Amino acid sequence: MTEAHKRLVKSDRPKRFIVLSFDDGYRDNYDNAFRICQKHRVPMVINVTTGFVDGTSFPWWDAIEEFVRQRERIIIPTKAGNRELDLSTLSAKTAAYGQLYKSLRAANRGIAADFLRKLERLNNTDFQEICQRLIVAWDMVYKMRDSGLVEFGAHTLTHPVLRTLSEADAEHEMAASRAVLAKRLGLPIVHFAYPFGSSADAGAREFALAKRVGFSTAVTTCHGTLQPEHKAQLHALPRLSINGFHQNLQTIEVFLSGATTALAHGLRRVAM
Ligand SMILES: [Zn+2]
Repeated sequence: MTEAHKRLVKSDRPKRFIVLSFDDGYRDNYDNAFRICQKHRVPMVINVTTGFVDGTSFPWWDAIEEFVRQRERIIIPTKAGNRELDLSTLSAKTAAYGQLYKSLRAANRGIAADFLRKLERLNNTDFQEICQRLIVAWDMVYKMRDSGLVEFGAHTLTHPVLRTLSEADAEHEMAASRAVLAKRLGLPIVHFAYPFGSSADAGAREFALAKRVGFSTAVTTCHGTLQPEHKAQLHALPRLSINGFHQNLQTIEVFLSGATTALAHGLRRVAM
């Protein structure tokens, strides 16, 4: 990202380049992506949610996915009382996961945390424990830092939807995660990725906050390729999501051509 930032702010038109960024701090970034990048000497960026690595917070979407996958029956707290769900079929699991994901994604932080605690208690499970093996350990982070191939960015303490927080809380999530990472790594942390990152999750207030906190770049998950005009909005950079939904190389080629950037923005080439 530091190199991308340099190329973006240079006034001459930069050559084509890509940046590989990985969010949250998953262990498979170390086990798989890092090994492959090392083999090919390709640099990568990992945006770390520090609370996940510290074990003080967890990626709830993975916790519920694993929880639903493992169980044949679960008990859900509802306003009308506890409800038991039969999850013995794949379609029942898919429906239950979809419903839980949608509700938790829409809920404010306090309500979501309360719901998750109730769900743990009713079903005698431990979400933090479920997620622990999915998340990178600090010693792996240090090894990646020492390779000189991996740059680290901040990705908040707890992965909240920043837009739903008060300004002070949103700023704290950004600044404190930056401080934790800088202290752990002994390096300045100057790049940031917004959790979830769509325009519903981070907007003008968050872009201004990222700048105020001192990040030199911040990336969203709004679909698009980097263009010279992004020089003027370094705290609202677009990205292309490569995940389980678009893993084939042909789709990625089309993304990289920039063709889908125009489509995502109603055929107007805009900066974000
Ligand atoms: Zn994330």
